[in-house]
Amino acid sequence: MTSLWCELAWLGGDEPERGVLIGIEDGAITTVRAGADPGDAERLDGLTIPGLANAHSHAFQRALRGRTHSGTGSFWTWREQMYALAETITPDAYLRLARATFSEMALAGITVVGEFHYLHGGGNAMAEAVIQAAGEVGIRLTLLDACYLRGGLDSFRDTSAHAWARRVGELQDGELLRIGAAIHSVRAVDFESAKVVAEWAADRGAPLHAHVSEQPEENESCQQENGLTPTLTLAEAGAISPSFTAVHATHLAPNDIAVLGFANVCLCPTTERDLADGIGPARQLREGGAKLCTGSDSQAFIDPFEEARAIELDERLATGVRGNHTPAQLMEAATSGGYDSLGWPGGGRLAPGAPADLVNVSLDGITLAGTPPEHAVEATIFAAGPRDIRHVMVAGRWIVRNSDTVGTVP
Ligand SMILES: [Zn+2]
Repeated sequence: MTSLWCELAWLGGDEPERGVLIGIEDGAITTVRAGADPGDAERLDGLTIPGLANAHSHAFQRALRGRTHSGTGSFWTWREQMYALAETITPDAYLRLARATFSEMALAGITVVGEFHYLHGGGNAMAEAVIQAAGEVGIRLTLLDACYLRGGLDSFRDTSAHAWARRVGELQDGELLRIGAAIHSVRAVDFESAKVVAEWAADRGAPLHAHVSEQPEENESCQQENGLTPTLTLAEAGAISPSFTAVHATHLAPNDIAVLGFANVCLCPTTERDLADGIGPARQLREGGAKLCTGSDSQAFIDPFEEARAIELDERLATGVRGNHTPAQLMEAATSGGYDSLGWPGGGRLAPGAPADLVNVSLDGITLAGTPPEHAVEATIFAAGPRDIRHVMVAGRWIVRNSDTVGTVP
């Protein structure tokens, strides 16, 4: 039994609670009580929040940072550079790259990552490398193994959706590991194959993700092939449900927004701005019932607060309107929204029964010193960054202490 006493903790409202005592047993939160005395509990100064979820990651693309950001071109020319990198990666290189990337995430306060995994070479050696890397860092992982059947590189593709299902069926859930499914996109997976993947996920109650309408060109070719938008194609294939997550969802028609009201939408603003994708209709999606979450996607940047505040700030630029999302709604997108999307329901919350995943944010560093306690939530969402992350816990174990990784490697 571990007891933590938080000077301030965010329990879901616009303002943090004071003096919050959190009891932890067997990797889960058992009690949460505000207005409590510290007693002999371990004291956490500053603001404590639930673990931050990174719902969309391609770990290997961390190696593109600083190599693809300048110059002209588009999403499509960026993709050529990404392909060139992917061709050079071995399982051993993948382990080292993913371990470094997941360490950077842990230091940024990320406690669970959804690795959208399509660089598998038709086998599971790359997936095992990703799983090992997450285990060594101590971060919770949902491996979203992506069906990819056409276009791209040989190393992305399975021979059929059934071959994909056989391969992914060999991977097993673990204490901090969930195996989920992904349809890479309607570009890479035809309609009949999308049905197979959707059925596989539904049978297992596994999370299902897909890249959706990142670029207008994808919408046009999907209309030509299926006579529908990508969202409606996926709906016809049986993919859309509360355990489905549409990644990007940037270029949507009104019917798409209505359908996605039954699902999750993962926005990746720092990647979307880097690739000149556009700004998605986040407010309309949220008001239509979609649950929002965020992802670092291409790892152009790894900062979950920047992704969350960009939902609001990018929409301000696009609409000329402020206050589309409250700080609490942005914090939800960064925490519980991602846990729900990644198949850890009830996670990303400081509440009894939730996994004991939490993040302690310093309020006395260079960024947040002087923040009045009642404004700590909005100050954190709108101004904090990885430098303000002090301690990070996953399943009751510290993986970052005093802004440094602990990890599980002896
Ligand atoms: Zn992606």
